[in-house]
Amino acid sequence: SGCGICTKRCPFNAVSVINLPEALENPVHRYGQNLFELFGLPSVSEGDVVGLMGPNGIGKSTIIRILSGELKPNLGNFQDPPEWDEIISYFRGSELQNYFRNLSEGNVKVVHKPQMVDRIPRYVKGRVEDLLLSIGSERTDEVIEALEIGGIMKRDISNLSGGELQSVAIAAAALREADFYYFDEPTSWLDVRQRLNAVRVIRSLADAGKAVMVIEHDMAALDAMSDYVHILYGKPGGYGVVSNRRGVRVGINTYIKGFLREENVRFRREAIEFKVKPPRVSDEGDVLAEYSSMKKSYPEFSLEVDEGTIYFNEIITAFGPNGIGKTTFAKILAGVEKPDTGKVKKNIKISYKPQYLSSDYPGTVDELLYEKAPGYGSNIFKSEIMKPFNLEEILDKKVEELSGGELQRLAVAVTLSQEADLYVLDEPTAFLDVEQRLMAAKAIRRIVEGRNSSAMVIDHDIIFIDYVSDRAMVFSGKPGFNGHAGSPTELREAMNRFLMEVGITFRRDKETRRPRVNKINSFLDRKQKELGEYYYLK
Ligand code: ADP
Ligand code: ADP
Ligand code: MG
Ligand code: MG
Repeated sequence: SGCGICTKRCPFNAVSVINLPEALENPVHRYGQNLFELFGLPSVSEGDVVGLMGPNGIGKSTIIRILSGELKPNLGNFQDPPEWDEIISYFRGSELQNYFRNLSEGNVKVVHKPQMVDRIPRYVKGRVEDLLLSIGSERTDEVIEALEIGGIMKRDISNLSGGELQSVAIAAAALREADFYYFDEPTSWLDVRQRLNAVRVIRSLADAGKAVMVIEHDMAALDAMSDYVHILYGKPGGYGVVSNRRGVRVGINTYIKGFLREENVRFRREAIEFKVKPPRVSDEGDVLAEYSSMKKSYPEFSLEVDEGTIYFNEIITAFGPNGIGKTTFAKILAGVEKPDTGKVKKNIKISYKPQYLSSDYPGTVDELLYEKAPGYGSNIFKSEIMKPFNLEEILDKKVEELSGGELQRLAVAVTLSQEADLYVLDEPTAFLDVEQRLMAAKAIRRIVEGRNSSAMVIDHDIIFIDYVSDRAMVFSGKPGFNGHAGSPTELREAMNRFLMEVGITFRRDKETRRPRVNKINSFLDRKQKELGEYYYLK
């Protein structure tokens, strides 16, 4: 599956590495015979946040395990692993030489926030406050406040939601005293506001002179917290190469363009284009479905929904905090839950992807697709579904054994393969890597446009939301108690309302048009807040 320029297997979908870099001769680490190899390492520096971006399976967590001292790099010699002396001299001339010398002598203190926070309760018992207060940091109150976790201090760690666990894990890492801080995917499970809280806490470590490294798939969050980025490319599961370090703006733009100029490596056939869409005139177009104002109550939570209209050929995104009723609304639209008052007026076919996915299926991905995905095997299916979601590589895997990201790709693919009028997708980017998010965004747009249908998409990734949205709806209220869903409106209007609550402003990158977070209190930030234009200036 190459583009014709080379014969190598594509590292991403529809992507080719044109040339193999020289570095490929000297791996930093190889897991074993015919196993994954890592080429190069990123640099760390005091006072900076260095971001790592790239697809899953390309070696990002491996890098952090090496730099945090959990994994001793074997320089490719897995049969007869080298001693520290040899490793240190391998890095002669680079700043990493000192780093590894100090690491090997136990002279650096590192803290590592692991990727899989959902595993924390297996190892850490007790209440949140037991964990956080026992660290005894002077910054305890400050960090708890910044992450807004004061309300869960008395809760048992085993009863925390994914988002709560993530925030507690970030707090625990940030409170520990160290020289080097490593954060592996700190925004999974978090809503937009929580992501920005995490960004601020991570940023504050670097501002206090620490060296910080972060792996992140949310490009807006990565952009807001990093000074530099390294892009990783190669063949997921096969080998990964660490690119040169770039300033964060240039680095992320380079990623979006898919071409590393200095290395002369193209890793995506086309750039991702962000278009600033003209506002959609809402009384134009044919109505696909309508709903009246609705109410839905659970014993401890109530949701109020303002009436809304969904037109043909549009993608509406829905966003807001966790625990505010977004999933409840999606279930009402999909007919899985009934509202207490009000109703959805529709006579349409809906295809729904729930937020929480079940991997209960006694067969392979291939078998599931054969059974559940109309058109499986056709050319259209291949180009519109199979390729963007990179299903080829997981066809023979058992559904029960898929990773979170693999299961997500499969679920979104099956949902989109149905002939439907309305696609309801609840958090389709969860567990997806940065490349898969961009591919999913494109695929959703293409399918909605191609089928004269519409989509309602709930998500927390601003770059993804910006790319797919025609219009948007904002959820607000008090998480866990009550929620209010506004009517769908123009994206900018919705974003302005939402960002005003979160207290941040965005501008657009001049080159790629992607949204970028403004620095708090910068000139633009102050000006936009004054004008009430939180999303971006026209
Ligand atoms: P990323 O964090 O970029 O998703 P990882 O660094 O976790 O990637 O993994 C890179 C590759 O190395 C993957 O293909 C993974 O399966 C493989 N790998 C990770 N740990 C081991 C290990 N202990 N033994 C063999 N292979 C491993
Ligand atoms: P979101 O998707 O915005 O995170 P949800 O719609 O999943 O929010 O949940 C909103 C609130 O409703 C939460 O406090 C949740 O615990 C509660 N809730 C959701 N479903 C049920 C249910 N079936 N029974 C009782 N409470 C529920
Ligand atoms: Mg990883
Ligand atoms: Mg939800």
